[in-house]
Amino acid sequence: MHSHVLQDVLARLDKTYQAFFRRIRESRAGQTPGFPRYQGRNRYHSFTYKEFGNGARLDGILDNGFLVLSKIGRVVVRWSRPLDGTPKTVTISHEADGWYVCFSCADVPMQPLEPTGQETGIDLGLESFATLSDGTMIHNPRCYRRAERRLKTAQRKVSRRKKGSHRRRKAIKLLAKAHLKVKRQRTDFQHKAALALVREYDAMYHEDLQVANMLKNHHLAKSIADAGWSAFLSILAAKAAYAGRRVVAVPPAYTSQTCSGCGAVVKKGLSVRWHACPDCGTSLHRDHNAAKNIERLGQSRQGEVA
Ligand SMILES: [Zn+2]
Repeated sequence: MHSHVLQDVLARLDKTYQAFFRRIRESRAGQTPGFPRYQGRNRYHSFTYKEFGNGARLDGILDNGFLVLSKIGRVVVRWSRPLDGTPKTVTISHEADGWYVCFSCADVPMQPLEPTGQETGIDLGLESFATLSDGTMIHNPRCYRRAERRLKTAQRKVSRRKKGSHRRRKAIKLLAKAHLKVKRQRTDFQHKAALALVREYDAMYHEDLQVANMLKNHHLAKSIADAGWSAFLSILAAKAAYAGRRVVAVPPAYTSQTCSGCGAVVKKGLSVRWHACPDCGTSLHRDHNAAKNIERLGQSRQGEVA
């Protein structure tokens, strides 16, 4: 093995423990910080060359050359897109359907989009994936729920087969592929939704989510995990930075309880889906109301109240 690959294993271990110590420091009563788990051969799926050109390099014409890995050899790569910027680290990972290489690059040139003069608040929800302050709803694809039956069948197949058997190993591979498909459907949706938003709005405001806390509410847990809000928000932030747009998180307090028309507090439980204000007569969907509040909150924090 190349020495950098081994060094990176230690770097990962260190990162894991630092995160563990941070969780201990920050943990509140009743929370367990979670000790780092041993990553055996069935869990450890990737390795990293930490310096492009040293241990991992490209040979031949850049876009369809070979990947040359030290101690491994020349590998043919099917490129998903050309490299942009200066490659820094190279990570090889093993997914259920094959081997992948990921280059992390520095100095990737920005591609700023023309300003549109539009801003929006985004309310992330379960009923629809997101609601914008103009009332547009982004439909939630619920990939996991839709694939649930297929996943269950595949899981059952694994359980029925004898431990350590060749047939069980085969079934495990099929199950992993089914999960991979769900994961990719979700990412695909998130990228498309984020791109549409970035194209249309100069500034996007969203609630600062404490997703980890919400997942503890078990009733909603599966749906929240499915919606993949935090993954979506990081994709959105990355695309926005690349396009010269702004994504701003605002504190979530009272965004759904406040009336977007007059500012009065209208108390309502989670099951009440409509906002009707007794004071000013504003009447709209609960999430639409929240999105408007989020936009106003975001703009006021920038010191530019509309
Ligand atoms: Zn009102």
